[in-house]
Amino acid sequence: MRWSRTLITTLRDDPQEAEIASHKLMVRAGLIRKLSGGLYTFMPFGVRALHKVAQIVREEMNRAGAQEILMPALQPAEMWERSGRLATMGPGMFRLKDRVERMMVLGPTHEEVTTEMMCNEVSSYRQLPCTVYQIQTKFRDEIRPRFGLMRAKEFIMKDAYSFDVSYEAADASYQAMYDAYVRIFKRCGLLARPVEADTGDIGGKWSHEFMVLADSGEDGVIDCPACGYAANQERAERKAGPTPTPTQDGTIEEVATPNVRTIEQLMAFFKCPGDVFLKTLIYVADGKPVAVLVPGDRELNEPKFKRLLGVKKLELADDATIQSVTGAPVGFAGPVGLTIPLYADQALKDSVGRISGANKADTHLKNVSLARDAKVLAFEDLVMVGAGDPCPRCGKPLQIKRGIEVGHVFKLGTKYSESFDAKFLSPEGQRELMVMGCYGIGVTRTLQAVVEQNHDADGICWPVSVAPFAVTLLNLDTKDAAVCAVVDQLEKELQDAGVDVFVDDREDRPGVKFKDADLIGCPIRVVVGSKGLAKGGVEIKLRTSKDVAIVPVDQAVADIVGRVKSVV
Ligand code: ATP
Ligand code: MG
Repeated sequence: MRWSRTLITTLRDDPQEAEIASHKLMVRAGLIRKLSGGLYTFMPFGVRALHKVAQIVREEMNRAGAQEILMPALQPAEMWERSGRLATMGPGMFRLKDRVERMMVLGPTHEEVTTEMMCNEVSSYRQLPCTVYQIQTKFRDEIRPRFGLMRAKEFIMKDAYSFDVSYEAADASYQAMYDAYVRIFKRCGLLARPVEADTGDIGGKWSHEFMVLADSGEDGVIDCPACGYAANQERAERKAGPTPTPTQDGTIEEVATPNVRTIEQLMAFFKCPGDVFLKTLIYVADGKPVAVLVPGDRELNEPKFKRLLGVKKLELADDATIQSVTGAPVGFAGPVGLTIPLYADQALKDSVGRISGANKADTHLKNVSLARDAKVLAFEDLVMVGAGDPCPRCGKPLQIKRGIEVGHVFKLGTKYSESFDAKFLSPEGQRELMVMGCYGIGVTRTLQAVVEQNHDADGICWPVSVAPFAVTLLNLDTKDAAVCAVVDQLEKELQDAGVDVFVDDREDRPGVKFKDADLIGCPIRVVVGSKGLAKGGVEIKLRTSKDVAIVPVDQAVADIVGRVKSVV
């Protein structure tokens, strides 16, 4: 491929909307172009790198015994009704009608379609285990599409689904996918860390996410350097700490606090630290109001609270609901006298001498003792775990990092087989439910994560495995016949050796070509110019090293092929 005949435009300046390095670089290097928010066109270089990621995924899926299929993106909405997810997916799912007014959706994922298909195809235990996968376009109406390919409205996912005769067999299928994921991300040149994760709307019992650690990551990753425990912050647990020692246990007392509502305002007003306050949050859980208490300096972990309540929908109450259940405006809710179900974080067990809202406008209560003054139904681990909290396994202090979720493996159990009555005939002649797992990789997100983890101030530093081209060949003297002859010869011989090579044959200054070569970031740069040839050869340099080797023309191909094999 030659620059003069390729649709590639590099940009000097960062695109305005790009916030993170990989997004900026993918646009500047001409890999992607924005159509509109969350929608991107893959340009020739972008599509080459994308296909390489997809090919690695495909090879490892096949190696793990999964079979490739391809399902429609457009799905009848009735399938989602059967699984109960038409309601729970909410506005995140694109919905439309066909010409006969039949409700359709653009698939955000394919559990329903796959289970229905398997239900029709599989009748006997002899056909199991079976794992199918596809590499296909998904649609999600994200609230905030951003960071380029990281959070798009249309993106490419590899989604796999396993079907087994028992939970035990399903564990083996899960492990096979987990191991394949480890190999996939490694081959893509990524350091990806498996962490325990929440199961969210997909449902199911257990899951791991594969996180690429990066400061720009949207997820918090809790990590124990002592024992290796790692979990998504949404899921992370902490060891129950020692019960706080009582500070005071006097009688309860009302204090006038006009317009003192936030924790910061309260800390300033009462001149005490945040954990003395009982933060009282009012939620609506499946239509019914509930209250939860966390220490004033901590955040509630909503997924944990949702799991504890065992409800489908949990959302913060609106102002009117808060007013009606507490009898006070927002900012003055407290546990004393509340009549709705009340839960509290485990750190508040036996707590005394606390300050809370008084369920009365402009008023707080001092000396609240939870056991004496309120009716708490359960004390559980309900807060967002943070740095310094004790590890749930070994008790040592936890750390927090940022991560990009590139893959997710779930143990689904029989959630979907029940909805679709997906059964097989056992050797004993019984009809039994298939036990499922599902496994996603954001192929387009993974591509951008490679750039996020592999770049420097000058541009992208592609690993060979997913680079659009392994070699970029710069012709510094396009009017010099001898130089052009060497370029032609190297291009042909490299192609014959199976090496992807891109030739910069533009009539531009060398400085422009060097800058673009760094920006695009192919792993090996080969420079052919009249000065170099006079000195005895061509220049060969790795993108990630400063060392330049001068190699005679007749040894150049062997040298380059050797480097392609040795650099990852
Ligand atoms: P997130 O928490 O980032 O919204 P998710 O947990 O909803 O993702 P899954 O349903 O687990 O995503 O989808 C499988 C994979 O698809 C994710 O691990 C991620 O790599 C990718 N993915 C999900 N949403 C998007 C998106 N909007 N744009 C690009 N890739 C995505
Ligand atoms: Mg996920």
